[in-house]
Amino acid sequence: MNSHDTRKLSAALPPEEEAALLETIARWIDKDVRPVVIEHDHGDIWPEAIVKQMAEFGLFGAVISPEYGGLGLPAVTYAKIVSMISSYWMAVTGIFNSHLMLAVAIERFGTEEQKREWLPRLASGEIRGGLALTEPNAGTDLQAIRTTAVRDGDDYVINGTKTWISNGIHGSCFALLVKTDPSADPRYKGMSLFIAPKGEGFSVGKKFDKLGYKSIDSAELQFDDYRIPAANLIGGVEGQGFFQATGGLELGRINVAARGVGLAEGSLRLATEYAQVRESMGKPIAEHQAIQLKLGEMVTRARAARLLTFDAAEAYDRGERCDMEAGMAKYFASEAAVRNSEEAMRIFGGYAYSKEFEIERYYRDALLMCIGEGTNEMQRIIISKQWVKRNPA
Ligand SMILES: Cc1cc2nc3c(=O)[nH]c(=O)nc-3n(C[C@H](O)[C@H](O)[C@H](O)COP(=O)(O)OP(=O)(O)OC[C@H]3O[C@@H](n4cnc5c(N)ncnc54)[C@H](O)[C@@H]3O)c2cc1C
Repeated sequence: MNSHDTRKLSAALPPEEEAALLETIARWIDKDVRPVVIEHDHGDIWPEAIVKQMAEFGLFGAVISPEYGGLGLPAVTYAKIVSMISSYWMAVTGIFNSHLMLAVAIERFGTEEQKREWLPRLASGEIRGGLALTEPNAGTDLQAIRTTAVRDGDDYVINGTKTWISNGIHGSCFALLVKTDPSADPRYKGMSLFIAPKGEGFSVGKKFDKLGYKSIDSAELQFDDYRIPAANLIGGVEGQGFFQATGGLELGRINVAARGVGLAEGSLRLATEYAQVRESMGKPIAEHQAIQLKLGEMVTRARAARLLTFDAAEAYDRGERCDMEAGMAKYFASEAAVRNSEEAMRIFGGYAYSKEFEIERYYRDALLMCIGEGTNEMQRIIISKQWVKRNPA
């Protein structure tokens, strides 16, 4: 573990306890999630009943420590839950994943008062939110953000715009990355992270109409002389924001990798079923070599994505440095999701294009996994740099 690593480690669950938890989630997916996916996805409807059920299961506190009201799940169990739900409906996992990025920032870097004040209500789902980093001019280059926070007595006054923020409409509190010293050099030293609940001066702009990842709201957030107490500065010290905002990235990447695994496995499941019932030339298409080649590649890819993801999650739970492993898992699993969903589309033939079949959703949802938590272009560069650093000549 790094000397400054503040990761909270959770012990592995006893196998029977983990199996019971996963069984409960599997039953819930069958009974309450699968029947409503298509209607919600096509209508871009926010899944209120599902959010309520996820709160009842404790998913909004999945990785928050029990002392603050969470389930304190290890990364391995968390990734199993995320991949299982994602293999049926990836978008709903974003509702608690993005929220947990806020909670993780508070638990890892917040003061004891901040943890006691915010974490129990985040864990129960009473307050839900997300992570507000991206701005219209700054995504990959986070240090280029322009939102500022200026100290005024016991408050800070914040001005700026955030964009693409998950849970932006239905969430009520965000980890907000700002510049407290816009002239700092290097730029990251002038960045700070705040716990920002909605209030006067904090408004929601447009909701994005997206290709996929429907039902979870992505929105622009606007800050006009938004005033918050200095007590909301995470950790209480200015200049730590860049490190705090990116400090949760290992878990964030494991989480995106788990979603990729779910999408890759879900696409495989749908294609496998279809290939055995659809016939051409007098036999199921699964007996044609062209389809066998596709299925053979898809199952191998899904399996490799799963192994890389759980390799990273296990390293995380052991407290080892795993930024490169999490990056490799995120990169590979998200590309596996894209490739498997595309191959499944081909296996479905013309019916892939019908919205009566589900495979088109996987195809629309998968590409997002290549963009979030660091684009796959950046991911490969970061993996390479870490690899070389670990292997000096
Ligand atoms: C559905 C959705 C949900 C999102 N949710 C959130 C959220 O909750 N919170 C939040 O803060 N953000 C969120 N985002 C934003 C997301 O994190 C950014 O889109 C992502 O970081 C990429 O930034 P960008 O879109 O500005 O692309 P850019 O940074 O403009 O990148 C464009 C292209 O250039 C490449 N590129 C950029 N810089 C380099 C470089 N130095 N070297 C090589 N290649 C480079 C990128 O890889 C990419 O291919 C969300 C986005 C989407 C689409």
